[in-house]
Parts: sequence; structure tokens; C-alpha cells
Amino acid sequence: MQPADIQVIGHEIAIRWDDGTESFLNLETLRRRCPCAGCAGEKDVMGNLYKGPTKQLGTASFQLRRFTPVGGYAIQLFWGDGHNTGIFSWEYLKRAASE
Ligand SMILES: [Zn+2]
Repeated sequence: MQPADIQVIGHEIAIRWDDGTESFLNLETLRRRCPCAGCAGEKDVMGNLYKGPTKQLGTASFQLRRFTPVGGYAIQLFWGDGHNTGIFSWEYLKRAASE
């Protein structure tokens, strides 16, 4: 499954997949679910979760400046507050949109 088109429309990312289906993802929800190690934490080999202090998110945190494809399997999102370490895979986006 690959996106045929990705657009930011208002407060959402709209993805049209190559099978013709569409997903709409709210930017704020995506930012709150950012899968990067800083936001989601990182598990060690024992399964212990290490997580930094929760960041204060403001209006800029939910504004998407731009996005760029990563390795054909994901997009990297660049947020208004400078955060850009979250890599969102197609699978992750598809799943998030269906919840
Ligand atoms: Zn993050």
C-alpha cells in the first residue's frame, strides 16, 4: 500500500492510497501520537520503557510546516515548533486513520 497523493487540508492530512481509498488524519492527533523516541519513549531489551518528560504542546506544535517522504515507506513531519523526529509509516497512518 502506497499513497498516490498526500495533501494538507486545514487541520488534516488527506492521503489517497493507491487502492483508491482515502484516509484523513487530524494533525493534533498525529502530533500527540508522534512515534519518535522523544515522544513515545524507547524500550530497552528487557521491555522497560524510557520516556522523557512530557513536552508542553502549544498551537505551533500542531501546525504542519512540511512533510517529506522517507525511504518509500513513511513520511517525516516537520511541525511548527521545530519538532521533526517523528517518522510516520504508511502502516501507522492507515491504522491511526481507521481508529
Ligand atoms: Zn516526536
